[in-house]
Amino acid sequence: MKYVIALAGNQNSGKTTLYNALTGNNQHVGNFPGVTIEKKEGQIKRFKDASLVDLPGIYSLSPYSLEEVVTRDFLLKEHPDLILNIVDATNIERNLYLTLQLMELSIPMVIALNMMDEVRASGNSIDVMKLSKHLGIPVVPISASKKEGVSELVEVAIKTAQEKRKPVKLDFCTGEVHKAIHAISHLIEDQAKEAEYPLRFAATKLVEGDELTFKELKITESQTHIIEHVVEDMEKALNTDREAALADMRYSYIEQICRDTVIKKQETREQIRSEKIDKVLTHKYLGIPIFIGIMFVIFWITFGAAGAFLQGYLEEIIALATDYVANLMESYQVSPWLHSLVIDGIFAGVGSVLSFLPIIVILFFFLSMLEDSGYMARIAFLMDKLLRKIGLSGRSFVPMLIGFGCSVPAIMATRTLASERDRKMTIVLTPFMSCSAKLPIYGMMTMAFFPENAAFIMIALYIMGIVVAILSGLLLKGTIFKGEPVPFVMELPAYRIPSRKSVLLHMWEKAKDFLQRAFTIIFLGTIIIWFLQSFDWSLNMVEDSSYSILATIGSLIAPIFIPLGFNDWKASTALISGLTAKEAVVSTLSVLTGTVTDLELSTALSTIFTPLSSFAFLTFTLLYMPCVAAFAATKRELGSVKNAVLTAMYQTMTAYVVGMVVYQLGNLFI
Ligand code: GDP
Ligand code: MG
Repeated sequence: MKYVIALAGNQNSGKTTLYNALTGNNQHVGNFPGVTIEKKEGQIKRFKDASLVDLPGIYSLSPYSLEEVVTRDFLLKEHPDLILNIVDATNIERNLYLTLQLMELSIPMVIALNMMDEVRASGNSIDVMKLSKHLGIPVVPISASKKEGVSELVEVAIKTAQEKRKPVKLDFCTGEVHKAIHAISHLIEDQAKEAEYPLRFAATKLVEGDELTFKELKITESQTHIIEHVVEDMEKALNTDREAALADMRYSYIEQICRDTVIKKQETREQIRSEKIDKVLTHKYLGIPIFIGIMFVIFWITFGAAGAFLQGYLEEIIALATDYVANLMESYQVSPWLHSLVIDGIFAGVGSVLSFLPIIVILFFFLSMLEDSGYMARIAFLMDKLLRKIGLSGRSFVPMLIGFGCSVPAIMATRTLASERDRKMTIVLTPFMSCSAKLPIYGMMTMAFFPENAAFIMIALYIMGIVVAILSGLLLKGTIFKGEPVPFVMELPAYRIPSRKSVLLHMWEKAKDFLQRAFTIIFLGTIIIWFLQSFDWSLNMVEDSSYSILATIGSLIAPIFIPLGFNDWKASTALISGLTAKEAVVSTLSVLTGTVTDLELSTALSTIFTPLSSFAFLTFTLLYMPCVAAFAATKRELGSVKNAVLTAMYQTMTAYVVGMVVYQLGNLFI
């Protein structure tokens, strides 16, 4: 016998933390709503015959967003043996709202009352026994992050699943809503059975006017008539609309339970602290300047102070390794082409990218601190007002933020957006957020041309990406994507000290991803570039790479970039190889200029670019179409190759125009 346990709860209630504690997995935990978008499955430790499914966080079982659809479908169609409903005890009223809906599914259920450590610390308390009696389901107090009560929880959960003990109490309402639900229940009993919908759930959903339920139950026209009539009577009697009537009914029941079970002397320490911090950080006028200030400090540390120092260190190690291997090959007298492949190709290419590892890791250390502390959620909230002006909502901030890491997951994360219009627009704009693979390019150029102002240039580029996305949004809103964004509701999680484990995990994930790319796609790209630049069309090895295959191809494209201030086959080739992965721009330039150390590369670059044209080049790399992986994701999410190609063309055109404006304006003023 194998049990499937579904982990369901509000966003940020600690589901993933509990999931990790129970399964020993390392899923990404974030103090940020919308982190878990797909369900994940794992074995419970010590109970090999029970598997646990981590579902996306939801507030209701009405399919307003894809997360809710995923969770609802799973619960209705996969028939899990148990719902493990995780309830954030510091926000018990709001969390129980979902609980009441889950109970209607008539699936055995256990409540994990999480964050009890915070409740306790604030001197509040919850009468767990009474709560359990009120709801008619087992309640286990836990602290997922401190692993308290977790093994007890597993025992209760397994036992409840074995006994198949369903929630008994369903009628927590009286009066008009009660009447309506019961009338409709009788009407649709057979259809509910047929569609395998729990009766009570189906009836409530029909009262709510949930279209999906109407469809799935195959409600006939005459039935619809009766239902609408019943609902109208209810609405008239209560003087509210159907959804509000149900919400009121649930909330008044919750209030009643809480009055009886929750002793709340004061808000939790975390809540009081959060309110104080929020007075400053989400201030109407100060909020955004503070955010920019914080980002500035982070960038300064990452690129200016710590990052550059560590990078220098790593570079020396790479240079030593290069020398060692070169000497070794010379002493064994390997053929010149192999020597060239290894030293001028692989070591130069992969090495130049590898040296950026410390910068990436440090940046993601800070970003995960921001996310885990709960600050990023505030920024999404602040950004909602701004995003609304360009026709998006604060919801789109989540994918855009992920876009600073990598466009691929960012584009996938747009699935959480409820409106198709918001979603498509976000997919088009997200790649303007500067992804982490572009960092090595910025690093390389600033080192060569703006060593004193590296942090400043980086920030300018990040801001430029955002500004272009804004302008672009305004343009799209007035043309292709007419309409209004959907309203934005997101709860603000309490500020929390980021957990060391979660931050380390985040950094490790990034580092691993970066290393993987360096040794796969960059490695391969480097070899291809080396080959094309070392041989001519008759496959003779060339002395001077400007006679190579690559040079002849690159020279054809190079003049296109004259308006941007550079006309060199190495630069245009680097941009093309950047389509495989953005870091390849660096490895390609490094291979093509035949340089190993950064100092050599800097000198070589100054023969290709002027400081101004190097900035135009950076502008172009910031904005032009993303790499093939992101292109594939765009195609998948937009549904057609045509749309993806149009998107890529739009992005590349934008890059070209902005790059040109930068160079031409710069020329006027400098
Ligand atoms: P999910 O969105 O429901 O998956 O929630 P997460 O597991 O990502 O957790 C949200 C936040 O709550 C994270 O910052 C966790 O570290 C924190 N958290 C989770 N469980 C507890 C707990 O028992 N006590 C406290 N104090 N914090 C917790
Ligand atoms: Mg989660």
